[in-house]
Amino acid sequence: MASITLDDVTKEFGDGGDAVVAVDDVSLDIEDGEFVVFVGPSGSGKSTLMRMVAGLETQTDGDVYIGDQIVNQLGPRARDIAMVFQNYALYPNMTVEENMSFGLKMSTELSADEIEATVTETAEMMGIESLLDNTPGELSGGQQQRVALGRAIVRDPNVFLMDEPLSNLDAKLRTTMRTEINRLQSDLGVTTLYVTHDQTEAMTMGDRLVVLNYGELQQVGTPLACFYRPANRFVAGFIGSPSMNFFEGEVADGTLVADGFEYDLSERMRANVGDRTAVTLGARPEDYTLSEAPTDNGFEVVVDVVEPMGSVSYVYVRSVAASHDETFVVEVDGQQPISEGEQLHAHAPATDVHLFDTQ
Ligand code: ADP
Repeated sequence: MASITLDDVTKEFGDGGDAVVAVDDVSLDIEDGEFVVFVGPSGSGKSTLMRMVAGLETQTDGDVYIGDQIVNQLGPRARDIAMVFQNYALYPNMTVEENMSFGLKMSTELSADEIEATVTETAEMMGIESLLDNTPGELSGGQQQRVALGRAIVRDPNVFLMDEPLSNLDAKLRTTMRTEINRLQSDLGVTTLYVTHDQTEAMTMGDRLVVLNYGELQQVGTPLACFYRPANRFVAGFIGSPSMNFFEGEVADGTLVADGFEYDLSERMRANVGDRTAVTLGARPEDYTLSEAPTDNGFEVVVDVVEPMGSVSYVYVRSVAASHDETFVVEVDGQQPISEGEQLHAHAPATDVHLFDTQ
């Protein structure tokens, strides 16, 4: 097992005017045994960052450490890591047993009996012991992914790297496998890096999230810290579904004046604004309440669309006072009777509202 350190790591593809900075000066300390999720939109550099840890890509600048050792010069084999990919990458002509034992036969001194015992034990752990004689083509996607995970686990590596491993599975199986990967990771205690573009998946997995955009580190923190204390507007908009609502405003005398409402800033918010005169206010759909009676710091809205989801409804509203007809979304209890065209008061408490630099 091992810690991982990235020290000012940059990766550029191409030269001169055509160069793409896929990873931009990222520094990161990952503890031994930690489960860290790289999350960000497509093209944000997640895979490239992981591939540099794997040794499949060489950084343009900076150092990668596994444990105390700089591994810049080491190829993938010498780094003692196991990777699991979206497409499983199983050998189609080999049985499950052969797929799982292949790496061990190539890289360890274990006897044939010891290899068989290790493979059987891992197959039991993954619930695939009855499939050992099958070939991958005879298995469902979920079973193939279990085999791919089993093949990684059986090698007892220092580090697991998983690149979108659940993307090819249907939604229900994805949820089951998330729980299973969480459990396996915590049982095995192996340092794990996991790449996903799916913020929901990221929220349910991992000790810490590494949020990336355009190759730059946006925030490193627990899923809850990224949700409740987003470091910037990008993280605030990316983490959480439906996405946070944003409003541009001017601040004067402790009041934020936006197009459509005014908001009296609390002491904490005033301190946060400092000497900025323009800020962006952010509030999550679930932070609002909609009421018939006026509320302190609330404003009048008209309901555009109601989207019932069952236990909650998403209500798209627009401010009556706004000069535009853009809506924002409010999440309410699914039982709350609300009809389209209705006029109500929207309110989000100061404790839940965020302020960001205006972009
Ligand atoms: P993600 O995993 O977040 O989708 P990637 O790490 O795959 O992002 O890609 C980051 C950026 O680097 C993208 O702009 C992508 O087009 C570019 N990129 C990735 N691999 C290569 C490559 N082999 N050659 C050129 N550009 C690449």
